[in-house]
Amino acid sequence: MVKALANQGHEIASHGYGHELVYSQSPKLFRNDVRRAKQILEDLTGMAVLGYRAPSFSISSQSQWALSILVEEGHTYDSSIYNRFHRCHNSSQENEFFEIETSVGKIWEIPPSTVNIMGIQIPVAGGGYFRLFPYAASKAFLNRLQGQGSTFVMYLHPWEIDPGQPRMEGPWLSKFRHYLNLGKTQKRLDRLLTDFRFRPLREAVSSEEIDRRKSLFLNANGGLPKAHEILTHRLKVDHSPETYLP
Ligand SMILES: [Zn+2]
Repeated sequence: MVKALANQGHEIASHGYGHELVYSQSPKLFRNDVRRAKQILEDLTGMAVLGYRAPSFSISSQSQWALSILVEEGHTYDSSIYNRFHRCHNSSQENEFFEIETSVGKIWEIPPSTVNIMGIQIPVAGGGYFRLFPYAASKAFLNRLQGQGSTFVMYLHPWEIDPGQPRMEGPWLSKFRHYLNLGKTQKRLDRLLTDFRFRPLREAVSSEEIDRRKSLFLNANGGLPKAHEILTHRLKVDHSPETYLP
């Protein structure tokens, strides 16, 4: 499947190998996990893997070392910091890509999309949120993001379009999150891909847009924000992972 997707021109990036929360791993285990995933994907596709997204967006202030490891392992962008459900008055800024300075080099951070509803940044970037909202709502959110000049960044696991998967027991909230609207998601995704055009993320961090983006997030000293500045100030809410069934 990975090979077929790559042959069709889709960018293949990494979600790690073992799908463990980043902050529950040691730096050494995390390095092994991302290295293994990257190597397997590169062997399959013959192309460099540039991007990474952590399971349940688990790069947080407790695991900021992860960004340096991603740089060292050859990733040029990350999309694991999902700042949502907080008060904000500049929604388009919240959705901008930004470059972070780590101790071993720079990495682009690509936030999954949020829209501002009554002063709060509501996550609309896919997964459980895409399954929860009716398609008309997702389409309206996307049009709003386009209107404010933001890039829409979303995600979906393969299991989220598989209504025939085995049913497991677990806490009711996990079961609700996991099985919600599985039967409707493929059709919604088809409509999304018909109504809008998408492109590989690697293009968004290697194009002419980059210079404009670079100037948006300089810190008080005129330099790039450091990992700890991003993770302690930008990520204002404590991370609590969404629990799905294993
Ligand atoms: Zn995942």
